[in-house]
Amino acid sequence: MSKLISLVAPFYNEERGAAAFFERVAGVIASLPQYRFEVIAVNDGSRDNTLRELEAAHRRYDFVHVVDLSRNFGKEAALTAGLDRANGDAVVPIDSDLQHPPELIADMLEQWNKGAEVVLARRNDRVTDGRMQKLSASFFYRVHNKISDIDIPPDVGDFRLMDRAVVQALRQLPENRRFMKGLFAWVGFRTVTVPYDVEVRHSGTTSFNMWKLWNFALEGITSFSTAPLRIWTYLGAGASALAMLYAVAIVVKTLLWGIDVPGYASLMVAGLFLGGVQLVGIGVLGEYVGRIYSEVKRRPVYLVREEHPRRDQHDAAA
Ligand code: UDP
Ligand code: MG
Repeated sequence: MSKLISLVAPFYNEERGAAAFFERVAGVIASLPQYRFEVIAVNDGSRDNTLRELEAAHRRYDFVHVVDLSRNFGKEAALTAGLDRANGDAVVPIDSDLQHPPELIADMLEQWNKGAEVVLARRNDRVTDGRMQKLSASFFYRVHNKISDIDIPPDVGDFRLMDRAVVQALRQLPENRRFMKGLFAWVGFRTVTVPYDVEVRHSGTTSFNMWKLWNFALEGITSFSTAPLRIWTYLGAGASALAMLYAVAIVVKTLLWGIDVPGYASLMVAGLFLGGVQLVGIGVLGEYVGRIYSEVKRRPVYLVREEHPRRDQHDAAA
């Protein structure tokens, strides 16, 4: 039997781009007859007609498997739902807005056949991003990689090919809060990179604004690093050491020159500054406590309302 390749595509309000996505993917599939394909299309609680488009694609192409989530769980959860259902010998998460050219899958498969277990797609240039986005992204990767146990390669997104073994490893990770980029990097395996040019969105707009990206960055750092917690030990030790020195200085000064007028301003500044530092420290603690809270609840990562499995799969089961 020829090898099965699974594409996992999350859809959130992509009614206008969905048909074009499947058409282009079908072209790629036709050009690679030595493989069998399945496309797992996850509808992540779209508020438009995306689901109807996906069902139409399911009727038209027998390689389409539609998973309808009960609400919008976010891209990470939608990807997880797709990965959980992927039966392929290799699995490729891909954006449904056609920013990730499906033609690249041929190059990925070539590397996979040469023995790579993970084939990363690296953007040549972030042409579709603004200057602010480029700067903030590179700053995030620098900070993240400095303080985390794992390195996330910059300019690499979710678009990649993973061997079945890698996907199985991912499925074993028990966390509910799934920062996919980090999890992908955490599992490791033999990795190679292929370059590609990001395309502009087929239609619609991105659902990641600055505030969402900021929270996403926090999520990434708190997922894979405890450095923000440990900083406080050193800050506290530093502040105490300075206070001791200052105390000695005051004693010496008082012995030599007597008591001078107590300084209201310096007291105020020191008090407010340390108060602020303490609040920030508590805030950081809160971030982690919040994560522990949401992890211990052990809620499922996503809920499925309905699904239509690949047609030949369905026939085989019947
Ligand atoms: N997406 C999703 N759930 C969400 C937001 C986005 O499944 O809550 C999907 C979306 O349909 C697209 C992919 O994730 O296929 C990337 O989203 P988007 O294009 O908005 O992000 P960007 O490309 O700007 O990073
Ligand atoms: Mg996009």
